[in-house]
Amino acid sequence: MENCIFCKIAAGIIPSSKVYEDEKILAFRDINPQAPVHVLVIPKKHIASVDKITAENSSLIAYIFENIPNVAKIAGITNGYRVISNCGPDACQTVPHLHFHILGGAPLAEKMA
Ligand code: 5GP
Ligand code: ZN
Repeated sequence: MENCIFCKIAAGIIPSSKVYEDEKILAFRDINPQAPVHVLVIPKKHIASVDKITAENSSLIAYIFENIPNVAKIAGITNGYRVISNCGPDACQTVPHLHFHILGGAPLAEKMA
């Protein structure tokens, strides 16, 4: 996808602080962290949001979740974490390339919204 910032990060055109990478996914530190550890996990293939998950691409989403425990561990999280995906305007999604926030490294707020 042209002009997609996370596609450019996935392609290495825009640098990022990488936590984990393989042929299908990339995990990198959020540029504006909202917790002591704040990592984003993305599919390298462009999917706009959770709203665009289908039977055809859901194996990639499963793959992301299979890898999240390892990503959290590599990022230094030892005492639990929160996984969030903002989808659409009311959820304040700002980057229209599917990503899962992994937040941890300290006790998080009890409320999620
Ligand atoms: P959203 O609001 O869409 O759920 O989350 C987008 C996230 O991407 C935000 O937390 C924002 O800080 C992060 N972000 C936006 N641009 C960049 C960037 O160029 N590099 C990195 N590492 N994170 C970014
Ligand atoms: Zn993209």
